[in-house]
Amino acid sequence: MLVVMEKGAGAEQIEKVIQVIEARGMTARPIPGGDRVSIGILNNKGPVDQALFQGLPGVKEAIPVTRPYKLVSREVQPEDTLIQVGGVCIGNGHLTLIAGPCAVESENQAMTIAEKVKAAGAHIFRGGAFKPRTSPYSFQGLGEEGLKILAKVRERFDMPIVTEVMDTDTFALVERYTDILQIGTRNMQNYSLLKRAGQSKRPVLLKRGMSATIEEWFMAAEYIMSEGNPNIMLCERGVRTFVRHSRNTLDLSAVPVILRESHLPVIIDPSHAAGYRDQVIPLSRASVAVGAHGLMVEVHHAPEEALSDGAQSLLPEQFAELSHWADAVHALVKPDVA
Ligand code: PEP
Ligand code: MN
Repeated sequence: MLVVMEKGAGAEQIEKVIQVIEARGMTARPIPGGDRVSIGILNNKGPVDQALFQGLPGVKEAIPVTRPYKLVSREVQPEDTLIQVGGVCIGNGHLTLIAGPCAVESENQAMTIAEKVKAAGAHIFRGGAFKPRTSPYSFQGLGEEGLKILAKVRERFDMPIVTEVMDTDTFALVERYTDILQIGTRNMQNYSLLKRAGQSKRPVLLKRGMSATIEEWFMAAEYIMSEGNPNIMLCERGVRTFVRHSRNTLDLSAVPVILRESHLPVIIDPSHAAGYRDQVIPLSRASVAVGAHGLMVEVHHAPEEALSDGAQSLLPEQFAELSHWADAVHALVKPDVA
């Protein structure tokens, strides 16, 4: 249920609605909108009686929410979410480019790549310090040393950073250093991690589980949002299919569905979808054309020496080409997207 207030509803009228909700053991979640406040009802055991709210002063209407996800749905919030972090806007018609290596390997490596991607138009720098690797014998990331390097990149190049947080043990540490918390595909349904991210003040980039439906993905975002963190971007990074020509299959059809069903920004990661660098630029063009709000791309100045994901990492000059294409396609489709 969503209680929509009149445009000029006052604080005491909103408070009264909250009291009615909480007196019945449910949770009230006020959602400030463009020109009016709505109040979402959570933790209801069964249908909520609309009549409870209809006569209250300042209430415009009470609408049943038909989807299992509530706070992330457009039914509850018709306007696009706009996330602002370190002077960068994400969502609501903006096109945001996130670029950097798969893993932070050294200060020199991170600085070299950051300088080049910044010059090419990247807004946010990415790099893993805690890496979820398939093999326990592969490079696991530099840990806190990697986070310190990322903080230096932010300072030197004035770019917000995004890095993965893998577990609740290291959450506070990662949260201290990063601007945006990445939750990876392998952790999309790690509910204790999602709840912890919901208690954070940092925006969250939530990757789609490698075999997750869109509904499961929305429910994962709902875990974060229901704990109080509204700043979530959804990141499509390819799903597991039978094909062998790419590492995963980029599900571009997810984008119009997300744009219809949710107000959250959607970012595409063509690098992990493709697995091979020659597919990354064409997939990026298509992602912007279909209406994505941004791209997250792996870039390395010496990909043959990369400690992870070298085969899918673009050279800096290829990222510059991608950035040019992304802007050109966005200018073409923006009137439809915004
Ligand atoms: C990454 O972004 O480096 C990463 C590990 O991504 P994913 O969780 O999508 O595999
Ligand atoms: Mn990677």
